[in-house]
Amino acid sequence: MKVLVVGGGGREHALVWKIAQSPLVTTVFCAPGNPGTAGLATNLPIAVDEIDKLLGFAKKEGIDLTVVGPELPLSLGIVDLFQEYGLTVFGPSRAAARIEASKAFSKDLMKKYGIPTAAYDVFTEIDPALAFIRATGAPIVVKADGLAAGKGVVVARTEEEAEEAVREMLSGNAFGSAGSRVVIEEFLEGEEASFLAITDGKQVIPLASAQDHKAIFDNDQGPNTGGMGAYSPAPVVTPDVHAVAMAEVVQRAVDGMAAEGCPYRGILYAGLMVKDGRVKTLEFNARFGDPECQPLLMRMQSDIVPLLLAVAEGDLSGKEIQWHDQAAVCVVMAAEGYPGDYPKGDVITGIEAANAGEGTTVFHAGTAERDGAIVTNGGRVLGVTALGDTVAEAIQRAYRAVDLISWRGEQHRGDIGQKALNR
Ligand code: ATP
Repeated sequence: MKVLVVGGGGREHALVWKIAQSPLVTTVFCAPGNPGTAGLATNLPIAVDEIDKLLGFAKKEGIDLTVVGPELPLSLGIVDLFQEYGLTVFGPSRAAARIEASKAFSKDLMKKYGIPTAAYDVFTEIDPALAFIRATGAPIVVKADGLAAGKGVVVARTEEEAEEAVREMLSGNAFGSAGSRVVIEEFLEGEEASFLAITDGKQVIPLASAQDHKAIFDNDQGPNTGGMGAYSPAPVVTPDVHAVAMAEVVQRAVDGMAAEGCPYRGILYAGLMVKDGRVKTLEFNARFGDPECQPLLMRMQSDIVPLLLAVAEGDLSGKEIQWHDQAAVCVVMAAEGYPGDYPKGDVITGIEAANAGEGTTVFHAGTAERDGAIVTNGGRVLGVTALGDTVAEAIQRAYRAVDLISWRGEQHRGDIGQKALNR
């Protein structure tokens, strides 16, 4: 069968890598892809938001399954459009993707269906928002309602910081329509975990546990990023935490979405805050996390294609997922200045040597090919991912590979996976 993967980051390289291993698959296309996917798939010069062009290609080429990586095309309704033309597509509908695309929708769903989360309120006007902050006190968290690529959340340590965030979001144009509403919520302490599950709208199969590292610097210092590294399994997800996350978070969300008339099909990602075994939901995402996808897919033993197809066709009955016992760690290598402005076009060396390491795969994210060389082309450039018999071994292998790769101004965290070792 022919598969089309939509996206061009590290997550999509990992998806293409995994899908291409399936004996069911003859050809993989990736739009727009990157130099990493180019070795495994045919890259197409179509951007992720050009959903009409993607439809045109899928119809013309007779694509049997389309897999959507990022949130933007989901929120634009790519799944609804493809289904309208009878195409088989993996991902939630536009209405279901609101679980990520609107934080107000997502929080209201959590409240209505008893999903544990931080106390909150939604505001469109500055004055009541400021009054709420003064009444609640700091620390407090201010979130732009819409998609803001991980940059619409301010964890304010002081009331002044929170007030400034509200003013900037509600009065400025910094966030466009994403900032016309804000969610203000209680600050939660604890350790974060990424809990992902695959669902056909009724049945839910959990994926292996994972943990992301959002802050740019070691020890979770500095501003948040799209994610600087991830590992799986994550010991913070104890059997008890797993049971609560399944029953009270994911299943309630899936049942709630069905009850709301927008059944959720695809990967449902719950960002959790865990403290003393108690679980609260920070957010839902409507797709695989990036970088969690990279270690998760390296650990997935089962063929992913029958799972994706079953979800796209609306029935996961009888499916299960086998995992390798090994752990996997992904270290993100980023450009100088990220998550702020960063240069592009710096020549990267050492990828081939790094890829030769035992159990190691270098997933491309923000790279491009220029005159036969691989150069930087984004903030998060590579996701160096390794398997190991233990988290410690996977960390060692991943960093051994990272040390072989370089470019001008490269930066990465030195402590990915450390939280697992500290337990
Ligand atoms: P992403 O782009 O990574 O999906 P996002 O912009 O959708 O993120 P959230 O996941 O809601 O936003 O928040 C981003 C980060 O801010 C969280 O991972 C967490 O570190 C922090 N955060 C969010 N809400 C809270 C809270 N209530 N208490 C403490 N920290 C929080």
